Amino acid sequence: MSRIVYVNGEYLPEADAKISIFDRGFLFADGVYEVTSVLDGKLIDFDGHAVRLERSLNELDMPNPISKDDLLEVHRKLVADNGIVEGLVYLQITRGAPADRDFVFPNPDETRPTVVLFTQNKPGLAETVNPVKVISVEDIRWGRRDIKTVQLLYPSMGKMMAKAAGADDAWLVEDGYVTEGTSNNAYIVKDGKIITRALSTDILHGITRAAVLRFAREAQMEVVERSFTIAEAQAADEAFFTSASAFVMPVVEVDGAQLGDGNPGPVMTRLREIYLEESLKKAV
Ligand code: PMP
Repeated sequence: MSRIVYVNGEYLPEADAKISIFDRGFLFADGVYEVTSVLDGKLIDFDGHAVRLERSLNELDMPNPISKDDLLEVHRKLVADNGIVEGLVYLQITRGAPADRDFVFPNPDETRPTVVLFTQNKPGLAETVNPVKVISVEDIRWGRRDIKTVQLLYPSMGKMMAKAAGADDAWLVEDGYVTEGTSNNAYIVKDGKIITRALSTDILHGITRAAVLRFAREAQMEVVERSFTIAEAQAADEAFFTSASAFVMPVVEVDGAQLGDGNPGPVMTRLREIYLEESLKKAV
């Protein structure tokens, strides 16, 4: 089915949407992105994504070409025009397409950023719980993982390494500690405590992470923000990950070691319930 997508102010059938070969997103991965999920035809945590987008752009000295209100309108129109009930909206902003390939950033007065948005339809998203097996791989990404750039080759390779090993995803490990998943934040549960790495430039500051930790604390669950090892994860009672497109998802195997009885655990299951219920209340 052909989608209606958004490119630089225009709504177009996907086949008619075109970007210059000189676009710095294409040539240098000089761009940032956000993924916002849609449930019941509404956007989950739009505000959180808009705030993080602004921060990513600031960190890269990239002008913000679109106001938050306009961005919300584009999101809503794409959701409506494409009949999305459950799915997601992908947004990408790059530094635009200067006249030539050049490492030096173009003058923002002459080169406008490129703004692209499209939807992905995912019926059944809220009900989908796929217990995941992870392997560990070395985290060799750059040092500013808190900026949500489109530089995703290594995470993509991590996923392929996982598939080749008969697993579903990879947890990235640096100096002996898990940083995060290839496209999600990583957690373990031990003796009722929810343990996840503290925020820094080492990981993406997940919008889902922020919400889940807030809901966990509100529900009187104990949250400990500290790094953990793969050995700790293998000995944990439960493990899970969070992301805007998967919400809260169980991890049942870590480097070949099964966790508990191999089924999604009660803490993760409860957190997923609370997250979906509370996020839907505030969806726009
Ligand atoms: N870490 C990484 C590396 C990611 O790519 C993502 C999702 N894009 C996340 C964490 C989760 O962030 P969010 O909850 O905002 O989707």
